[in-house]
Amino acid sequence: MERRDELAQNLAAVQQRVAQACVQHGRSPDEVTLVVVTKTWPASDVAILAELGVTDVGENRHPEAGDKQRELAAAGVDLRWHFVGGLQTNKAGAVTRYADVVHSVDRPKLARALDRGTEAAGRTVRCLIQVDFDTTDPGRAGVPPQDVQALADVLVRECPHLELGGVMTVAPLGQDPAPSFAHLREISAELTRTVPSATTISAGMSEDFEVAIAHGATHVRVGRSVLGQRPVLQ
Ligand SMILES: *Cc1c(COP(=O)(O)O)cnc(C)c1O
Repeated sequence: MERRDELAQNLAAVQQRVAQACVQHGRSPDEVTLVVVTKTWPASDVAILAELGVTDVGENRHPEAGDKQRELAAAGVDLRWHFVGGLQTNKAGAVTRYADVVHSVDRPKLARALDRGTEAAGRTVRCLIQVDFDTTDPGRAGVPPQDVQALADVLVRECPHLELGGVMTVAPLGQDPAPSFAHLREISAELTRTVPSATTISAGMSEDFEVAIAHGATHVRVGRSVLGQRPVLQ
């Protein structure tokens, strides 16, 4: 099958599942944005997705993300770029030059580096606080739930060039994702009490996006269900 047909078919199937989950859980379909995670796939795939109507794409690595963004921008393809991966502080400045949303802010030092980069780039970057609910693996990205408010305070008070957009999580591996997504929604409700614009709840991937929609996700990040199994596993 042509790559274009394959992507069109997969995308339509995912969009239909998103719509179905919305109906099932009393959500309006326009409350949920599909972010197609294109990491490891070529810019040509991203261009096809844009032609098929995709508006939001996700990448998890610098410089791969920036290279693709530049290539597509040069070809006149306008997309919203979401950086969803772990980010080293020394790469934060470079990422602020092309990312519209960074989903993986999990420490004050990174927030401050993103703020400096955003100011230098003369842009605004929406930042999400990545929350980690896995108590068994201390190596995972994300702040524990009890540290969200402190990091939000840093973003609001010390990072005037960033917009605190909300929260994000990756469900703990091999566990029922529902409790994590439910907890993330509570954290989001708490956060929006003090930062009303921080409405984004980024949760759910190929395996669990319907569960995330049931628990209030506003952004689902779907890679493999649209693009296929990644050539390089990560
Ligand atoms: C790769 C990735 C996704 C997409 O995962 P799939 O299983 O391919 O749908 C979503 N979120 C993050 C943070 C990722 O790194």
